Amino acid sequence: MLRLRNIDVFYGKIHAVKRASLHVDKGEIVALIGGNGAGKTTLLTTISGLNRPTEGTIEFDGQDITRARANTIVKLGVSHVPEGRLVFKPMKVEDNLLLGAFNRFSLKSRAKVARDIQAMYDMFPVLGERRNQAAGTLSGGEQQMLAIGRALMARPRVLLLDEPSMGLAPQITREIFRHIRELRDRFDLTVLVVEQNARMALRSADRGYVLETGRIILQGPSEELLENRDVQRAYLGRD
Ligand code: ATP
Repeated sequence: MLRLRNIDVFYGKIHAVKRASLHVDKGEIVALIGGNGAGKTTLLTTISGLNRPTEGTIEFDGQDITRARANTIVKLGVSHVPEGRLVFKPMKVEDNLLLGAFNRFSLKSRAKVARDIQAMYDMFPVLGERRNQAAGTLSGGEQQMLAIGRALMARPRVLLLDEPSMGLAPQITREIFRHIRELRDRFDLTVLVVEQNARMALRSADRGYVLETGRIILQGPSEELLENRDVQRAYLGRD
């Protein structure tokens, strides 16, 4: 579904991603873990067209999207939930959701968009209860749900999630990851999730990649990574 081959990304002289190759098959949840500054965010922004690789290729559903524009990539079916959630805080919850569907707006699609908003409220009832409230008044976990809901409004086939656990209590993080699995099943999604919270991410994912200073140093099924001594020492700490 999504395949990166030998991707290099630079910020000036900083070599943020080095020869990274990874793939995400249809219906999979894949976790990309690694410490601060490992290049996780850069890999996601490169997939969604916000950064350009100097080398390598990115394929989505058999199509080369390496040099495609960000809005084209969204239209093709890749939605990105950015780090820090970035919901539009002064706007109502429902208007945030509507914005996620901006690429679908036409008179014909209005009924469908309304139906999708309802599907988001079914999935995240708290958003429905607060639909007329400013997004900034939601808790961190609720804002994360809103950011995910907004991304889903574009009807993506692949969801890119950047640090969904950031700033959230463990219990809320667990809830978010439970939602991610539900969403995958319900909307037939493929998910690539970047996380510093390696344990939580690997427990929900099918497979994982470990990124260290821009390089993918390990990959495998989540259970294997959870049991790997080096991963345990570097990223899992104590339970
Ligand atoms: P974090 O979890 O802390 O966000 P990360 O694994 O997502 O880390 P990136 O944010 O991708 O890592 O950063 C990778 C490297 O690129 C770091 O050395 C970072 O300082 C550098 N970097 C990231 N964004 C920029 C930028 N806009 N300009 C210059 N350097 C950048």
